[in-house]
Amino acid sequence: MLNLWRKIRRTGRVAEPAPPKPGDEPALAAELGGSVQIRHVDAGSCNGCEVEIGSAFGPVHDAERYGARLVASPRHADAVLVTGPVTRNMAEPLRRTFEALPEPKFVVAVGDCARNCGAFAEAYGVEGAVRDVVPVDVEIAGCPPRPEQIVEGLRKLTGR
Ligand code: SF4
Repeated sequence: MLNLWRKIRRTGRVAEPAPPKPGDEPALAAELGGSVQIRHVDAGSCNGCEVEIGSAFGPVHDAERYGARLVASPRHADAVLVTGPVTRNMAEPLRRTFEALPEPKFVVAVGDCARNCGAFAEAYGVEGAVRDVVPVDVEIAGCPPRPEQIVEGLRKLTGR
């Protein structure tokens, strides 16, 4: 146990310094009061975006320090974080997840596939982009987006 404490002390803080606050989105942030609980839905992603989301919530980028937190149930969430184009099999589960969120609720589309189907546009199993299935409030571009971009997008919701 002592060794562990020594190691923690030696390692110190590993998080990147906080970048400046992104442009204010008062209408979004004001409703949520600086704390956003997020349910993630993979609607058909290649998993590249998930790797970057994992990094955004890891110790280096640490999205939680800005008030964003991943939760297991949509009933506990303020926002849905959606990755991938929406496949035909995931369109209904995504709609139901969105309906399960209490008001006020928000949707963040992460990655080019979520924004416009990206590399999977017109594939036979794809229903459409996220905005074709549920209303989208924040879009984060990139294939995949960098963790810094994901954190920046989430800060538009938390306002911190
Ligand atoms: S945007 Fe790129 S990384 Fe993300 S799901 Fe689509 S293909 Fe994969």
